Amino acid sequence: MNRFTDKVAVVTGGAQGLGEAFATRFAAEGACVAIVDLQCDKCEKVAAQVRERYCVQTLAVDASVADPEAVQGVVARVMAHFGRIDIWVNNAGLYRGTAMEDISMQEWQMMIDVNYTGVFVCTKAVAPVMKRQNHGRIINMSSIAGRTGFKNSLAYCSNKAAVIGLTRASAMDLAPYGVTVNAVCPGTIMTDMVARVDAEICQHEGWPLGTHIKNKMESIPVRRLGTVEDVAGVVAFLASDDSAFVTGQAIEVDGGELLI
Ligand code: NAD
Repeated sequence: MNRFTDKVAVVTGGAQGLGEAFATRFAAEGACVAIVDLQCDKCEKVAAQVRERYCVQTLAVDASVADPEAVQGVVARVMAHFGRIDIWVNNAGLYRGTAMEDISMQEWQMMIDVNYTGVFVCTKAVAPVMKRQNHGRIINMSSIAGRTGFKNSLAYCSNKAAVIGLTRASAMDLAPYGVTVNAVCPGTIMTDMVARVDAEICQHEGWPLGTHIKNKMESIPVRRLGTVEDVAGVVAFLASDDSAFVTGQAIEVDGGELLI
């Protein structure tokens, strides 16, 4: 299925994990893809792999989503290269598992800057382009952590809840211009981020490495962790014409984890 032929997709945090899977999925369905990340080498590598495998144009851009000037530069570069932006996935994110009493103001601010302000900065920068086109799809990566509370995750849970608010409000602002804005709330998806969470929790609890992941697998109703492809399928739907009447939603992709 080539739902994204002639479309241009931008994925932030696309150098690995979920973002890499989104970039790959868009390219597999015909889109030109720009990958934005702080990890320059990895970003270039993913862009080259995707270009060779799917014969689409790609662009790797080294920028932080938390830097408004850099993000304006990303939009300008993508427009100069491809001439339009149809899909923008706000995926770049950070997790730190820190007890409330140990969260420094520096860590708190850094989490807000990337996980929350980064989504605002990118949305504000790309919105004029999509409004002019009278078409666009913005997809924000929230989390089930934005729907509930997790231990030692005060900053992360609040940032991800805030992303849902931002999604609803920007959906209202952009709806008259043919631009939809939706959030995706993944559950536990096997990426480096989850491997790091496992390591932190196991160290904190004095458990052998992998115990947190094993416990999760046993408690999630579908009895497995999510794969990056599980989430990429939903993101691709939200980026496609099939979701034209869906906006301001936060969709859980969690194997039922929030049901427990
Ligand atoms: P990851 O750590 O594997 O990848 C995150 C990417 O974001 C990295 O490539 C990193 O370099 C990039 N990044 C970080 N700060 C950046 C910045 N300031 N500017 C640009 N790029 C930056 O994480 P992942 O598991 O692939 O998660 C991707 C997104 O999905 C995150 O927003 C995360 O919070 C969310 N999420 C993940 C899970 C999960 O289980 N993995 C669950 C729910 C939500």
